[in-house]
Amino acid sequence: METPGNGEVVDLTEGVTSIVQTAGAGRGLVTVFATGSTVAVTTMEYEPGGVGDLQDLLERLIPQRGEYRHNQLNHDTNAHAHLRAALIGPSETIPLVDGTLALGTWQQIVLIDFDDRPRTRTVTVQVAS
Ligand code: ZN
Repeated sequence: METPGNGEVVDLTEGVTSIVQTAGAGRGLVTVFATGSTVAVTTMEYEPGGVGDLQDLLERLIPQRGEYRHNQLNHDTNAHAHLRAALIGPSETIPLVDGTLALGTWQQIVLIDFDDRPRTRTVTVQVAS
C-alpha cells in the first residue's frame, strides 16, 4: 500500500478480516506484520481524535527534531521514525475465535507509517490454525 508517511495511521481491519474469511479458519492466531524499520502495527480506536492524540503523544515522547546519532552518523533525517516504530513494534497477533477476530467494537488494527517521506508498504497477514 502507498502511504504519505509522517505518522499516517491506516485502518487495516477490513483488509485483515477479508483475508481471514478467505482463509476459512475457525480458530487460531492471526499475525499482522509490517515490513520496515520505520513502520508499526498496533490496535486502537480508529477515529480522528484518538489518531491525533496518539500522533501528539509520540511527538512529545520522541520529537521529530532532536540530536539523534542515527541522523548524524548516516546523514539521515528519520531517526524519530525508527525510534517510534521500535517502541510500538512491527506486528500484532490477534486470536481467531469461531472464525472471527477477537477484536472489540472500538478496537481496530492500524498501521502507522512514521517515515518522513511517502513509502510503499508491505503487510503480511498469516493465519495459524
Ligand atoms: Zn534512517
